[in-house]
Amino acid sequence: MAETLRRNLIGGAWVEGAPTPNFNPSDDKDIVGYFASASEAQVNDAILAARAAFPGWRNSSPQTRADLLDLVGTALIARKDEIGELLAREEGKILAEAVAETVRAGQIFKFFAQEALRIAGDLIASTRPGVDVEVTREPLGVVGLITPWNFPIAIPAWKVAPALAFGNCVVLKPAELTPACSHVLAGLLDDAGCPPGVFNLVMGRGSVIGKQLVDHPEIDAISFTGSAPVGQQIAASAGPAMKKLQLEMGGKNPIVILDDADLELSVAACLNSAFFSTGQRCTAASRLVVQSGIHDAFVDRLTTAMAALKVGHALDSSSEIGPVASEKQLIENLAYIDLAKVEGTQVIGGDRLERERNGLYQAPALFVGASNRMRIAREEIFGPAAAVIKADDFDHALAIANDTEFGLSAGICTTSLKHARAFRQNAMSGMVMVNLPTAGVDYHVPFGGRKKSSYGSREQGRYAIDFYTAVKTSYVFAG
Ligand code: NAD
Repeated sequence: MAETLRRNLIGGAWVEGAPTPNFNPSDDKDIVGYFASASEAQVNDAILAARAAFPGWRNSSPQTRADLLDLVGTALIARKDEIGELLAREEGKILAEAVAETVRAGQIFKFFAQEALRIAGDLIASTRPGVDVEVTREPLGVVGLITPWNFPIAIPAWKVAPALAFGNCVVLKPAELTPACSHVLAGLLDDAGCPPGVFNLVMGRGSVIGKQLVDHPEIDAISFTGSAPVGQQIAASAGPAMKKLQLEMGGKNPIVILDDADLELSVAACLNSAFFSTGQRCTAASRLVVQSGIHDAFVDRLTTAMAALKVGHALDSSSEIGPVASEKQLIENLAYIDLAKVEGTQVIGGDRLERERNGLYQAPALFVGASNRMRIAREEIFGPAAAVIKADDFDHALAIANDTEFGLSAGICTTSLKHARAFRQNAMSGMVMVNLPTAGVDYHVPFGGRKKSSYGSREQGRYAIDFYTAVKTSYVFAG
């Protein structure tokens, strides 16, 4: 099903580029569309268009920016079914999740529409008589936004909306696997009257045009979400140029199940954390740290629940888990299944599955009898796979949970207030969940992690302003 070419948006014009197909992971016969891969000259044009638009946008009324973002938020919510279906086709998450992600993107735009009206500062008495000290926030300039494939509408939304709200101009480069949702977002911004050059979309290879964005002297800041190795490369290039950086990367998130936990709630939390969205969430739990007294009953109930999960086409309303997003990711996942066997765990599930349509289907996998030293417990797999690690008591479980180079989300299931409190205080992660899945977050509060999961200030909620603005301290002597 060939469709029209999705073009790049550069300086207010829709620009052609080399047509590149975009496949549906649920069905290899379905080409979602063709997107125009931007050339390096076009990326340069986009950056210069953003630079030229910046003086006008930074001085625009906050009401203008609020109105633009609110219109886009309203349109996203109004068109949730159509955009959700496109998202499910290009990324592979099930339709209900894809529609919910689209609504969330709309809510994010509406939240930042209001934040544009709340850019505040401080007036502070000086230590010197007759002097006032004023602290204000200013936009950074031209911001390069680089996004991954797993939340193709929500992640562009949670970067683009605050960037524009606080007066920056934007060049967005979405993931190669999922350009269609960003293309739709660009269309909504254009339709809502975004001035030429304020928002630009360039689609194509990360190693070429993503790198170009990072290296370009007219880019003032980069906000990136993706894998830790690419984040580290970006830090290595942008650091010496002293660019402001925000990097959101991978995880190896633990969820602790204590002996006193509600078994049913724990199984539901782990099933959701580890396998929903095909395990393709940076906040997915991939280490289930289970106290010895509840271990066998937990594994028994979880494997029964896993076996009942329906893996299928993302648009089939009976599917609970869609396909893996790409052939490359599926090959990597299956290699980790083999590794889990070599490392000596009991592997339950994890096979490639055949379905009516030829797609990238995989059964959820559980690695029972894992140790936290194994590679399957240390490296992000980014698929529907989780390792069960036995712990003696709370302190042992906490130590295992924190023994990782990542620190995005961490969960605990317990009925003990004492242990819940101690876990909240001592988990080395940006987000802590008590009796909840490790994944699934609100749109209006800060999001991010510690250690190798995140670098720079938080995304989302009121904390987003810290990245997208520079603080200026002015001293005035009235005479
Ligand atoms: P990725 O790192 O391969 O790609 C992310 C983006 O970076 C893409 O747009 C890609 O084209 C671009 N890119 C690739 N090489 C580049 C380079 N050299 N310079 C500049 N840009 C480059 O990640 P992915 O496979 O798209 O996404 C999966 C990863 O994202 C997982 O590790 C997951 O944990 C992470 N993730 C993190 C969060 C978070 O908020 N912490 C959220 C979602 C996903």
